[in-house]
Amino acid sequence: MSEERKIACITGGSRGIGLGCALELAKAGCDIIINGTSELAKVQPALDEIKACGVNAYFYRFDVSNSEAVEENINKIIEEHGKIDILVNNAGITSDGLFVRMSPEQWEKVININLSSAFYVTHSVVKHMMKARRGSIVNMSSVVGISGNAGQANYSASKAGLIGLTKSLAKELGSRNIRVNAVAPGFINTKMTESLDPTKMLDLIPLKRLGEVEDIAKTVKFLAMDADYITGQVVKVDGGLMI
Ligand code: NAP
Repeated sequence: MSEERKIACITGGSRGIGLGCALELAKAGCDIIINGTSELAKVQPALDEIKACGVNAYFYRFDVSNSEAVEENINKIIEEHGKIDILVNNAGITSDGLFVRMSPEQWEKVININLSSAFYVTHSVVKHMMKARRGSIVNMSSVVGISGNAGQANYSASKAGLIGLTKSLAKELGSRNIRVNAVAPGFINTKMTESLDPTKMLDLIPLKRLGEVEDIAKTVKFLAMDADYITGQVVKVDGGLMI
């Protein structure tokens, strides 16, 4: 049974949006590989939750911004599981601050973890997808990658970069039957946004609520598994914030 199942790899799948995507893809019958930098003991409850969907779930601990660690771990995943059908480049951080006070380290850390990581992971995964002549990649961008945001020059640039990467790869890999799309979430209820005051946002959001992890996960599942003729798109999932 399990050889016939699709295998989905979600970077930063240990909590928040990434875990939501892992659960949605597990409910659709995919075996799941999640990644993060935390220790296995901390991630075990997430693995158990995914396995409760009736699929296999595995955790690979590595820093997505370390190109050597990425190559080593993706090769190990392919060796141990044979393939990756779906890749969700989701791992990401913020390190906000006004541009004039932003240090080069603050810039580089966010660009490396949010954007260069997608280059490293996709680069290692895509050669196997090309051999298989099929695959689907979803990059986790953000609405601020489209609009920009004061205090988030590093984060917005990284998320805009992911959109450029998505469109370029869609053009380059389409002939190999590999689709590449991006999701641009608005304000979603996770650890990343816990310090924001939601009441200030609600005036700006036509649907009058923050997004939930499931709102993003359902869109990722659609793009990854159902959207056979969609590639190079950036789908905003923001309750109408960007209208
Ligand atoms: P979160 O709850 O903070 O989760 C981030 C995930 O990324 C965790 O699993 C974390 O695992 C992992 N991660 C962080 N640095 C990593 C690294 N160097 N290597 C590997 N994994 C790493 O954040 P979230 O809100 O779910 O966000 C997920 C994605 O959605 C991010 O790309 C974020 O930019 C994007 N997004 C979020 C929102 C929002 O409103 N929440 C809006 C737009 C876009 P460890 O801690 O174990 O490393």
